Amino acid sequence: MSTVTIKKLTGEELFKNIISHCKEYGFIFQSSEIYDGLSAAYDYGQQGAELKKNLRDYWWKSMVQLHENIVGIDAAIFMHPTTWKASGHVDAFNDPLIDNKDSKKRYRADVLIEEYISKIEAKIRKEVDKASARFENFDETMFLSTNPRVLENQKKIDEINVRFKSALEENNLEEVKQIIIDLEITCPVSGTRNWTDVRQFNLMFSTQVGSVSEDSSTIYLRPETAQGIFVNFLNVQKTGRMKIPFGIAQTGKAFRNEIVARQFIFRMREFEQMEMQYFVKPGTELEWYEKWKQTRINWHRSLGFPDNKYRFHDHIKLAHYANAACDIEFEFPFGFKELEGIHSRTDFDLKSHEVFSGKKQQYFDPEDNENYIPYVVETSIGLDRLFLATLSQAYAEEILEDGSSRVVLRIPPFLAPYKVAVLPLLKKDGLPEKAREILDRLKFDHLCIYEEKDSIGKRYRRMDAIGTPLCITIDHQTLEDNMVTIRDRDTMLQERISIEQLSAMVNDKVSLHNQLMKLC
Ligand code: ATP
Repeated sequence: MSTVTIKKLTGEELFKNIISHCKEYGFIFQSSEIYDGLSAAYDYGQQGAELKKNLRDYWWKSMVQLHENIVGIDAAIFMHPTTWKASGHVDAFNDPLIDNKDSKKRYRADVLIEEYISKIEAKIRKEVDKASARFENFDETMFLSTNPRVLENQKKIDEINVRFKSALEENNLEEVKQIIIDLEITCPVSGTRNWTDVRQFNLMFSTQVGSVSEDSSTIYLRPETAQGIFVNFLNVQKTGRMKIPFGIAQTGKAFRNEIVARQFIFRMREFEQMEMQYFVKPGTELEWYEKWKQTRINWHRSLGFPDNKYRFHDHIKLAHYANAACDIEFEFPFGFKELEGIHSRTDFDLKSHEVFSGKKQQYFDPEDNENYIPYVVETSIGLDRLFLATLSQAYAEEILEDGSSRVVLRIPPFLAPYKVAVLPLLKKDGLPEKAREILDRLKFDHLCIYEEKDSIGKRYRRMDAIGTPLCITIDHQTLEDNMVTIRDRDTMLQERISIEQLSAMVNDKVSLHNQLMKLC
């Protein structure tokens, strides 16, 4: 393999470059761009739609196909409005917002405090890294429990957490504001501490159904896909003769009127979730919660990105429905942020639907001969955030041995939009015809792209930029010996192989089947 140097980019540069790359190569466009766009809404282009579909398929197959007790559904986005009363969203799906009077910018008060805590955590991490580089047999646990600077910072974090947690639990918005003032948090835009009071803001979008205004009633765009699963719990259990423990999976759009919708596709007002609710016997939920934490982190690691890009974050303030909850955080270019949530939701939702609908939501357990409302462990991941995590890990700018440069997306091959590029060296001499023969052999199993324009070098660069793992080049020699050149995106190595071997070779490199086997 020739030597390549990977350009070191700051998080900010990386993020900026990924956003423009997404636009330039047809991954993501601003929604309704010709009208100057709509904030926090994005369209997936031709490459993006493929990558997104492949990520969704991987999640779906690993949940539904690999677990005989998990089935998938596809519920409607519109639901009876009482659903959201029962789930607590009408009364409690709020974010605390605060405005800076000078910059007129709006923030989530909880995020301002969490970011302050993250900065102290980063200081602790820096101390640890410094010390571990200095001492050979460095004992991190010992260091964390004895170093005075670390202890002082940890004490500060604990104090903020205690105050913040009780303020949120008591819905004491004045105290939330006081914490922001006491911590001397300033607005990043104006640099001042001239804050308004903290107010609650409901995140659900509402609309009207019914054509005549007197008949119409307010309904909501679902803010999470989970409720579509809960209201179908008994339908699925009975028609599928499901025995507890069992799971119901679903992917689909969710809508939230986010106060601060920045950071590209990380926080949007319309996004896609992939959720699975696992129904278990009461009393066993915390055991299942631990199991699902492990299963989900293993799934993330199966993508092959470095382990230190992931961490768990346990919730200090549990949602009204949970008795344990954590996030799997990923190190995005702008720092560690939530990628997936894992929640032990108790029997809150089913019980509440039973009360509001007047219909029993109980399961008869044939083994114990008893009826009960199951407890639920939920795994919930944002598909768009997974997309961004994948791209931020895959994107690299490289300087090659000969001084030229390339942008490459090292997307795991089974997820890549196009798996194979078929490239006749020239646009004549029967090479395009031979290339199309090869395309016709491969296209039933893989999404392939055919390109004959530009020099072969330029075409390779273009394929690197959209993450195509394999390029097959057809030259004059091919017409004589039925051999082609196959080039690997990551190593840039080329080898000659016979057309007969192509299918097996491509399959081996890009198949989802091989990837799924890794999970078992
Ligand atoms: P956050 O704290 O970042 O607002 P959340 O805790 O409200 O997220 P959940 O309600 O647990 O998120 O939703 C599950 C998953 O849905 C999240 O882990 C995230 O990946 C995704 N998600 C939530 N809100 C958005 C959004 N506005 N845009 C994109 N993805 C989102």
